[in-house]
Amino acid sequence: MDPFVFPGLTTRVIFGSGTLAQVGAEVERLGHSRVLVLSTEGQQADAEALSARLGALSAGVFAQAAMHTPVEVTQTALAAFKASSATAVVSLGGGSTTGLGKAIAIRTGADQVVIPTTYAGSEMTDILGETAGGQKTTRRDPGIRPEVVIYDVDLTLTLPPALTVTSALNAIAHAVEAFYATDRNPVITAMCREALPAFRDGLPMIARDPRDTEARSQVLYGAWLCSTALGYVSMALHHKLAHVLGGSFNTPHADTHAILLPHTAGFNGAAVPGLLAPVTEAFGTSPGAGLWDFASAVGAPLRLADLGLTEADLDRAADIAVQNPYANPRPFDRSAIRALLQDAWEGRRPAT
Ligand code: NAD
Repeated sequence: MDPFVFPGLTTRVIFGSGTLAQVGAEVERLGHSRVLVLSTEGQQADAEALSARLGALSAGVFAQAAMHTPVEVTQTALAAFKASSATAVVSLGGGSTTGLGKAIAIRTGADQVVIPTTYAGSEMTDILGETAGGQKTTRRDPGIRPEVVIYDVDLTLTLPPALTVTSALNAIAHAVEAFYATDRNPVITAMCREALPAFRDGLPMIARDPRDTEARSQVLYGAWLCSTALGYVSMALHHKLAHVLGGSFNTPHADTHAILLPHTAGFNGAAVPGLLAPVTEAFGTSPGAGLWDFASAVGAPLRLADLGLTEADLDRAADIAVQNPYANPRPFDRSAIRALLQDAWEGRRPAT
């Protein structure tokens, strides 16, 4: 057996149906008497309802969270946070809302209670990506990691079908890269192995009935496992390429992950088939082809071209992707990355 370091898990997790009722008790358990509730505009009604339910604990709602955590939004939110005399935030939503809560926490020391409503997986991590002047920068810091995460499956029943599929593939991408992470450990690997069948079996059931609570629970459970992987081991080529496309070309986060995943898994799977054997066991054939077949069957987008990218954009993306070296199980150069992007742009089924 390879030697390993297991860093321990520090975030308290509550999982189930109707768990939203526990937010107030969790806020008090952390020692706070005033919290600011955060959401996107689209989820403002849910945030207002939660604020009303929290009663005197709530200092109000800030409902302007936006994709890629723009610093201008964070500045406005910080002013609202300070004016409200809150000492903690409750983030209700997907990765965009969680990102805003993290941005407030790292600047003020506020505690965070996160209630995830997508499968993107920001809630268990110490990672924050922020955008300023069109540039997205990412950092890791223990002060970014939320104190409490409350998964309430009832809140995911309204996740639109298209986002359900792409967000789930976004989560699977965390597991795929955790299998070959340089700092992988057997606990996270076991969690990722457990996650894959939850998505494989749950997503087709959700496609038939988006309000199937049991299927939604399975997929949310998988998302928690994958978020934990993202939060405790390092990612590689796949996350790098998704970051380049999202950061420099403003492609939608979940779609970008969903389209790239079969290609990055196929590329790395050719070098480390043993490490990616759980992916082949779950989805069949080979890591890339198996994931492509699954993505195709559940109606995921398959072509970068459909996100509005041009072939000239792929040239620039390949240049940016090789600017700074980073760990990956398979060595690569610019031409390998350019070829991978071309396949993803055309939506070809990977051979490996
Ligand atoms: P999102 O948070 O932007 O949500 C997408 C849209 O779906 C929003 O309008 C939101 O209000 C809506 N929505 C969310 N849940 C819903 C539900 N249950 N019902 C109805 N509508 C719902 O998208 P996302 O994919 O969750 O997050 C993407 C962002 O998160 C990106 O900025 C990405 O960089 C970041 N992210 C960060 C990390 C990290 O560890 N730092 C990890 C993953 C993602």
